[in-house]
Amino acid sequence: MRPPGRFRLPHAGYRPAMPSNTRTRVALPRSRRALLRTAVAGTAAAGAGLALGPVFPASAATGEAESDSRPTTPAQALRRLAAGNRRWRTYHEEHPHESAPLRRRLVAAQHPFAVVLGCIDSRVPPELVFDQGLGDLLTVRSAGEVLDEAVLGSIAYGVLELRIPLVLVLAHQSCGAVAAAVHADETGEPLPAHIQYLADQIRPSIDHGQQGEARIDATVNAHVRGVRRRLAAEPDLAAKVATGELAVVAARYELRDQHVRTLS
Ligand SMILES: [Zn+2]
Repeated sequence: MRPPGRFRLPHAGYRPAMPSNTRTRVALPRSRRALLRTAVAGTAAAGAGLALGPVFPASAATGEAESDSRPTTPAQALRRLAAGNRRWRTYHEEHPHESAPLRRRLVAAQHPFAVVLGCIDSRVPPELVFDQGLGDLLTVRSAGEVLDEAVLGSIAYGVLELRIPLVLVLAHQSCGAVAAAVHADETGEPLPAHIQYLADQIRPSIDHGQQGEARIDATVNAHVRGVRRRLAAEPDLAAKVATGELAVVAARYELRDQHVRTLS
């Protein structure tokens, strides 16, 4: 890590989503209004930055040869992750980048090629499900991949200081944090203080058009798309998306088949 003075935080402060019963009573500060204006441009730029289908690129899914050089573009980074996920779900893991010489090289510096923002769920560790090793991924994890200022600052560090070309926001099937948020919304029962914070962040994405397990499943997708949108709207990240240096992508991991699929 570079000295603290080199670590530039995003210009716009992060503002958590407010509970619906209080949101209308809070005036938006100037920085938030600027952020919202940028969000429109940032979202458009994100769409233009990298065209992706509902699944990872086919070239990677069929076992494209993987060089050991660090991916430097969003497309290369996505292909590297897709190839690793294919190895994982077909039980052909390589467990790369764990050797003694590599560990010694990493003492001097790190050059991870992707930021993965994922849930804390013990069944979805990014290094395993993408079959990556030391120095490959900058992982940030919070329950339900919820954003807060620390999460945002961690992602910004990876993009702005380590020049990482891809931020992948990874949701997953049967997310307990999303289920808890949906349950709290349906019953009105308060959750313990810090868990309620998580639920408050997820609540705006609850899909009331669905019922039961389908509601939880649809909310998993809506929430991860919302997190992706909010990240892509951050001015510092949006600027890099606009030039094609960065892609911010939403994806979802299925516990049943261990497949990661991107979400449009
Ligand atoms: Zn989860």
